[in-house]
Amino acid sequence: MNEFTVKMREIARELLEKGEVHMIIGWEKGRFPQQSPPAFITSADQIDRLIWDEYCLAGTAKYLLDDKFEHRKVGLFARGCDSRAINRLVQDGQIDKEKLYIIGICCSGMKDSASNETALKCQECTHPNPVVFDLLIGEPVPESDKPERFKAVEELEKKSADEKYEYWTKQFSKCIRCYACRNICPACNCRECFVEQYRVGWQGKQNNLAENQVFGLTRAYHIGDRCIECGECARACPMDLPLMELNRKLIKDMNQLFGPYKASLDTEDTPPLGKYRLDDIEEFM
Ligand code: SF4
Ligand code: SF4
Repeated sequence: MNEFTVKMREIARELLEKGEVHMIIGWEKGRFPQQSPPAFITSADQIDRLIWDEYCLAGTAKYLLDDKFEHRKVGLFARGCDSRAINRLVQDGQIDKEKLYIIGICCSGMKDSASNETALKCQECTHPNPVVFDLLIGEPVPESDKPERFKAVEELEKKSADEKYEYWTKQFSKCIRCYACRNICPACNCRECFVEQYRVGWQGKQNNLAENQVFGLTRAYHIGDRCIECGECARACPMDLPLMELNRKLIKDMNQLFGPYKASLDTEDTPPLGKYRLDDIEEFM
């Protein structure tokens, strides 16, 4: 058993036995050898399920929205991406940070179970160390701004308008509107999503290109300046839509228009589209 797993179990046991939290969210060994899905531990006799290995790919924070015991504290393990997701949910008023006990983990990156290589979202990660925590496991790992994460967007920008339209038409034609991208996204945290407001009729039920585009583009704009670049949407998409290209196009444009910004590094900042400055760029108006 590795050192992190031992430490995680020790901490989880103490928190549960002292009654400081009613649940711990971490990871456990899955049904398949190269998958370690989220685990929800509610008593000390379940502690041995907790593990840390190179396949703990899934984020832990979004599950906080499903906690039915909102008056009781939850303990969760959080890497850089998870900690930014926690900040996102706090900033959006969806969870109370006082109800959390955050056990930070310095992360060296996870493997994609299909390729067994470092997962794309980890290759492009700029913050592997937690940005918020009550307790930290491990030593901080080196961080880098990873400007190469915009490379695919830069390539797309070289295309003509028709070529771009053709590219995205091909992508959205594949979408089956399973909503996995939305369900897994910490920035997609509305209690009622526009796609389910059937009586208002924002989104039709048909699975066709036009409806898929409405969904994909509305979602992208809705999370535009709140996206934490965790890459979970692209990881979860069963049809391999390059959703991070869309997210990063918006992020890149916003960085150019309003200055460099990374969402949810703390809970005090206001996203660029949430504030008004007299010197805001107005070329597009
Ligand atoms: S996860 Fe992929 S296939 Fe499913 S709705 Fe999102 S973009 Fe479409
Ligand atoms: S849009 Fe994708 S990358 Fe951005 S916060 Fe949501 S899941 Fe993470």
